[in-house]
Amino acid sequence: MFGKVLIANRGEIALRVLRACRELGVRTVAVHSEADTEAKYVKLADESVCIGPAPSAKSYLNIPAIISAAEVTDAEAIHPGYGFLSENADFAECVEKSGFAFIGPCPETIRLMGDKVSAKNAMREAGVPCVPGSEGALPDDPKEIVKIGRAVGYPVIIKAAGGGGGRGMRVAHTEAALLNAVNMTRSEAGAAFNNSTVYMEKFLENPRHVEIQILSDAHRNSVYLGERDCSTQRRHQKVIEEAPAPDINRRVISRVGDRCAEACRRINYRGAGTFEFLYENGEFYFIEMNTRVQVEHPVTELITGIDIVQAQIRIAAGEKLWFRQRDIEIRGHAIECRINAEDPFKFTPSPGKITNWHPPGGPGIRVDSHAYSGYTVPPQYDSMIGKVIAYGDTRDQAIRRMRIALSEMMVDGIKTNIPLHQDLMLDERFIKGGASIHYLEEKLAAKSDALKGK
Ligand code: ADP
Repeated sequence: MFGKVLIANRGEIALRVLRACRELGVRTVAVHSEADTEAKYVKLADESVCIGPAPSAKSYLNIPAIISAAEVTDAEAIHPGYGFLSENADFAECVEKSGFAFIGPCPETIRLMGDKVSAKNAMREAGVPCVPGSEGALPDDPKEIVKIGRAVGYPVIIKAAGGGGGRGMRVAHTEAALLNAVNMTRSEAGAAFNNSTVYMEKFLENPRHVEIQILSDAHRNSVYLGERDCSTQRRHQKVIEEAPAPDINRRVISRVGDRCAEACRRINYRGAGTFEFLYENGEFYFIEMNTRVQVEHPVTELITGIDIVQAQIRIAAGEKLWFRQRDIEIRGHAIECRINAEDPFKFTPSPGKITNWHPPGGPGIRVDSHAYSGYTVPPQYDSMIGKVIAYGDTRDQAIRRMRIALSEMMVDGIKTNIPLHQDLMLDERFIKGGASIHYLEEKLAAKSDALKGK
């Protein structure tokens, strides 16, 4: 096991990694920007290093600063968390070339999966079912593009090969709208991701977002830890996640899970990862792979009893997986609500000082958050300030526990989306389970129409 790990991230995931390290007896280095100097988890770490001013480009994305922090503190490995540099192959390469272990897959795998076109090709070869669409990148010739559109069938979605975070996608419902959608996505993608390659997929009208969590060691052992349903989304961003996914046949899950584990062995995958799928009419369609720990990993931890972050660290240290597929048992149901510092219905960010922070507790409740009374949410970063996760024997019990937790939770001084979550926990469609990725937006649109009507 490593003696010391540097955590190249901030916020709740930095604290989550810190806790995993402590349990493994590993010392920690927190790196932070000037905006996060006062964060409590920075003080909990064995050492801390300021790596630059508040803007991420100058701190959390500053590769030379992070590498020097690892050098001066004698860390052996770097955990990238999620977001920031976690899926940056150049960073992983730089970490390894500088003599540190990268807690994640090797740079070539990150590169392969980071380009959604090459990722889809690799998955197709491994027998993972994909969304029908263009074979690879779209050509330049408009006539060819139109031909592909006809073959795929409308509506179609144009997606950037380098896209992420719900950006770089555009739907075309008709042939008349196709070329404009392609050109707009291309130029946006060029500007945002420095890669103007785009591809086409059939736009599934009413799918659910269901993803498979995998763990793979460096010795070609791979397992899947069941699935998560992340269909409650706004602007392609997840709001609520749960595991298992309601009403999906376990045999279908194990078939797709086995394909994912097999794909990991084929591409020599190392670490934790997620295969994201759209699920419609009983079928799974691969959309992309995330080569890092995800925000929603706790729901899987609660139903499997496996600590995914510790597993990442142990795998990076060279350990063989200490369980096999048949040892993994799914028990109960878990739901996660992402708590954001934002207006619950207008969604405008609401940074500032939290004057009173009272997290919930009790049976089956887990709160992953770095916030506390007196903590100031900086305006420079993502608005998520924590996650409330409820576990129960059944989905129904998890929902009831979540309602109680949200009603107990107090966050004063800033606005949060807790009222939105409370609303959803009482929503008939949510309670029924299995709503599509469009449900939340439709609900919000109906609400705003009703308000306008008054
Ligand atoms: P990102 O990397 O930006 O998260 P994804 O490829 O994972 O992009 O897609 C994000 C979300 O966009 C999905 O969860 C889904 O809501 C929507 N989406 C993506 N592809 C399609 C598709 N072919 N049909 C319908 N919706 C899609």
